Amino acid sequence: MPTTAHHATPHTDAPTWTVGDITVHRVDEVPLPPQTGPWLLPGATPEVVAQAPWLQPDFADEQRVLRLASHSFAVDVAGLRVLVDTGIGNGKRRANPAWSNLNSDYLKRLTQAGFAPDSVDLVVLTHLHTDHVGWNTRSDGASWVPTFPNARYLTTRTEWDHWAAVDMDEARRQMFRDSVHPIKDAGLLDLVDVPLDGSAIDIAPGIRLRPTPGHTPGQVAVELSSNGERALITGDCIHHPVQLVDPGLGSCVDTDPAAAARTRRELLGSLSGTGTLLLGSHFPPPTAGHVVPEGDAYRLVPAANAPAREISAT
Ligand SMILES: [Zn+2]
Repeated sequence: MPTTAHHATPHTDAPTWTVGDITVHRVDEVPLPPQTGPWLLPGATPEVVAQAPWLQPDFADEQRVLRLASHSFAVDVAGLRVLVDTGIGNGKRRANPAWSNLNSDYLKRLTQAGFAPDSVDLVVLTHLHTDHVGWNTRSDGASWVPTFPNARYLTTRTEWDHWAAVDMDEARRQMFRDSVHPIKDAGLLDLVDVPLDGSAIDIAPGIRLRPTPGHTPGQVAVELSSNGERALITGDCIHHPVQLVDPGLGSCVDTDPAAAARTRRELLGSLSGTGTLLLGSHFPPPTAGHVVPEGDAYRLVPAANAPAREISAT
């Protein structure tokens, strides 16, 4: 494959943030439908949303229903081209009608952001849920093949071992068959040992995996650091900014709700007031911000993203 493929498109409209010398692009897949919020975060009622007027209009609509989105973050760290999570994917048969048989322009947007599939070096999977592994593979007409054939794909050994031990329902088995097993069978999947004691593991200079158990046992957040600046990509330890208002608000799909709440409290406490850029894996635009104290909890102060710009050849 030509290594210059990612130079073909000279500019991007993807929202972009910088963290020291690191560049982060948000690559949109789809906004999630309005019924997602009440299902996923049943405690985040309109009354709860009303307690934090800053959530509207960006993070909740006029009816105080949460907005959520599916996207990836494409990250350039000193030339290493990293994709954090891979969304729902196209053409996959799913139980959730909002996720089944998608036909989005995700790959086009990823390429326009300067990350042609052949140019991706590393795919970090924060956890092995359907909406985080979908673009691991694409259909070649006959079978599911790795979308990023030149990349190593990483997830944690804890996450892998958890799902290996679970008696999965057919829908989840289907997801593993079409989106996880093909990358493992191709020899592209690496399992990283991330201890659950709170210390983060470096996977490359400037990128660390931080254990954030609870949503799933092996879920990790991704820390980026460069020149004294820091950012953190949540994965699903925080689904929505409303969880800053009440870190006890859990999602209906957390495997261990008490651990998930503990993780959110610890994480938000460690981020509050530090200037770390929080990048939410399901936060709708503006997606990123800084955590500051508010009352007995927190608030997200959105961070502006850079305007569309030229991508220089690397
Ligand atoms: Zn998710």
